[in-house]
Amino acid sequence: MQQNNATKPKLADNADQAMEQLASIIASYSEITERMQSSHQKLQGEVKLLREELRHKNEMLQRKSRLAALGEMAAGVAHEIRNPLGGVQLYASLLEKELVGNEASLQWVRKIIKGVRGLDLIVNDMLTFTQDSFCDKTEVNFTALLTEVLDYARPQIRSKNTRIDITDVASNLVVNVDLNMMTRILLNLILNAVDAAGDSGNVVIKAGPHKAKDYKVFVSVSDDGCGIKPEALKKIFNPFFTTKDSGTGLGLAIVHRLIECHNGLISAINNNSGGATFTILLP
Ligand code: ADP
Repeated sequence: MQQNNATKPKLADNADQAMEQLASIIASYSEITERMQSSHQKLQGEVKLLREELRHKNEMLQRKSRLAALGEMAAGVAHEIRNPLGGVQLYASLLEKELVGNEASLQWVRKIIKGVRGLDLIVNDMLTFTQDSFCDKTEVNFTALLTEVLDYARPQIRSKNTRIDITDVASNLVVNVDLNMMTRILLNLILNAVDAAGDSGNVVIKAGPHKAKDYKVFVSVSDDGCGIKPEALKKIFNPFFTTKDSGTGLGLAIVHRLIECHNGLISAINNNSGGATFTILLP
């Protein structure tokens, strides 16, 4: 009897201990499960990012090989056109001198000269697009660079009566860029925006430090024009894509190429309020 009484509490103690151990095993198990779940989610997030990065790199690679073939052809055509064009240019200007005093004929010759000049610009654009360009970077004050670019764009800005807002450009922003290339990039984006904004439209330029990985500076050019049709959004950086009667479709292709030379990024979106925004990220 006595023995029995002593065994009972012992059994109860053992049962309590077993329950405690079981509870602690279950707690550890759910802690481990939770940790595994969170690292699984983390891994899933990383896989998603890597997949996105891979998709982007694949797209860039495809674009590069497509452009290499197109570039080779464009360079060939540009060289073939350039020589006879030089001749036409020379003979037209000789003819212009010969015809001094003959206003009616001079008008025709001047039209030829103007047309040839336009063709020459296109040929130069084609060569710029196809040539390997060396990016000669220097540190420059962004506001000073932008002021110069706006001066170049002044005739178009005036003729369209465009309002240019640069209040959100950080005044002491320094960018490490190839001056000629960045001038061309900004001029192209601003002229496109002025064109899209139409008469008395608005163009907003913003620039400042960017905190995300790999890029130090952002520059954006927005307009309140008609925006970009969804089916065109994927094509606007392709050479020869244009929706304009007198466009060549080389401007944004060159901009894309020059931004690539800077190891930067460029993207375009439609604004919710109408119009489009082009954003550049620079290292
Ligand atoms: P181009 O000006 O000769 O057409 P671009 O390469 O500069 O060549 O532009 C390609 C096309 O991208 C334009 O024809 C136009 O359809 C579109 N685009 C460029 N900028 C804008 C903008 N700010 N708003 C709307 N569409 C634009």
